[in-house]
Amino acid sequence: MRHLHWFINDLRLSDNPALASHAAADSLLCLYILPKPRPWFQQVGLGPQRERFLRESLRELQAELQAHGQDLMVLEGSPELVIPDLVARFGITELSTSACHGSYEADQLAFLRKKLSIPIEVHRGNTLFNESQLPFTLDALPKVFSPFRRKVESIRVESPQTQALHLPPPPAAQFDAIPKASVGPHPGLPIPGGRAAGLRRLRQFVFDEESIQHYKETRNCLDGMTGSSTLSPWLANGNLSAREVAHSIFRYERERVSNESTYWLFFELLWREFFYWKALADGRKLFKLGGSQGNCRSCSFEPRAFARWCAGDTDYPLVNALMRQLVATGWMSNRGRQIAASCLIHECNIDWRYGAAFFERHLIDYDVGSNYGNWQYIAGAGADPRGGRRFNIDKQTAQYDPEGLFTHKWGGFRPTQPKHVVDAADWPISGDR
Ligand SMILES: Cc1cc2nc3c(=O)[nH]c(=O)nc-3n(C[C@H](O)[C@H](O)[C@H](O)COP(=O)(O)OP(=O)(O)OC[C@H]3O[C@@H](n4cnc5c(N)ncnc54)[C@H](O)[C@@H]3O)c2cc1C
Repeated sequence: MRHLHWFINDLRLSDNPALASHAAADSLLCLYILPKPRPWFQQVGLGPQRERFLRESLRELQAELQAHGQDLMVLEGSPELVIPDLVARFGITELSTSACHGSYEADQLAFLRKKLSIPIEVHRGNTLFNESQLPFTLDALPKVFSPFRRKVESIRVESPQTQALHLPPPPAAQFDAIPKASVGPHPGLPIPGGRAAGLRRLRQFVFDEESIQHYKETRNCLDGMTGSSTLSPWLANGNLSAREVAHSIFRYERERVSNESTYWLFFELLWREFFYWKALADGRKLFKLGGSQGNCRSCSFEPRAFARWCAGDTDYPLVNALMRQLVATGWMSNRGRQIAASCLIHECNIDWRYGAAFFERHLIDYDVGSNYGNWQYIAGAGADPRGGRRFNIDKQTAQYDPEGLFTHKWGGFRPTQPKHVVDAADWPISGDR
């Protein structure tokens, strides 16, 4: 029995049921496939911080596997070509992976099932609940969050698996060291990749500093590591499992304090859960301008306005600071994402998918369901019962950055830009002249 485990966004050894299932195999090939850059709404490939976080996570995973007598093979290419080649080369008899909720991954799996004549085991994804625990089928998934939450929040979150992991040896193959990323974490908001840093942050937020006790009041602050948990990068890459985070909250509630704030952190994990299952239920509709409901508002694409938004050079200093923080660090707060997304959709009147693709390129916590689901929500194409959210940027600035400290820190105060620019052929003539 020669098995292969294909890591996707389950970059951990603990609480990873797919890995535990290979104990009886003669050999196990652990594989990660770096995505091939492909154009998507004007973006290509991973931004430097997203790539950095991923590489740091992979390097640590490789070291952990080596400590278990194993190794990690990292290849670049498309899984549809890479995996059949490895299956033939190493005589693989069984393949496993962890479930992903993107339609792209679903297509890849469907292709591999057709192409390969070996069993392919897809283990549960990084969710709180198994699909079999949900009190509805995916076809009947509530369309908006609140009924979903009411139906699932009393379901028991199974404990994470903690038993020692026995991994079979790797096959005789070449395992290369994973090169370091070309950039390091940004000193203004350092978020290192890898499980060790994720566990440290979890312990710090919940038990050491007990910031969880006041989370509901502080969660909207704009910088990371101060008011919200900043656990999203490790959750999105699977360095931490959602169940590990949930059970830390429950333990804190049992041993120390249980209040509205501790509940609220779990409540936010339920949002994440909602978007996971919604992405699975919506399939390709997640990427449609009008979402699954076909709620299409009219919008346009004005290249200069989009370029200014991406560069953090708009007429809104707070939005500029947020966008600059995103590119420099790979992270942005939830409040910041709402404001920046609302600016693109409602002030610049641009198709939300261009903004979602820019976030996808740069966010170190990029998660297909949460990213596209939240963008749809603000655009009024998704799960918002009120049909979209437009944030008043002046009001948001006064409320969340009244002294301009955040805006200053991330360089959001920019010189005023002309309303129109003149192109090489002198057209259109600037309205400011
Ligand atoms: C336009 C837009 C795009 C987004 N894209 C992503 C994305 O690609 N990946 C991602 O993980 N989150 C995304 N979010 C959700 C949210 O902004 C981040 O999860 C959150 O800011 C992460 O910071 P935190 O870990 O400190 O969150 P906390 O406030 O500490 O919340 C704890 C955890 O709950 C989950 N969570 C919190 N809020 C949400 C939410 N609104 N939707 C889904 N899950 C949530 C996250 O896993 C988070 O780590 C997006 C939100 C918006 C408005």
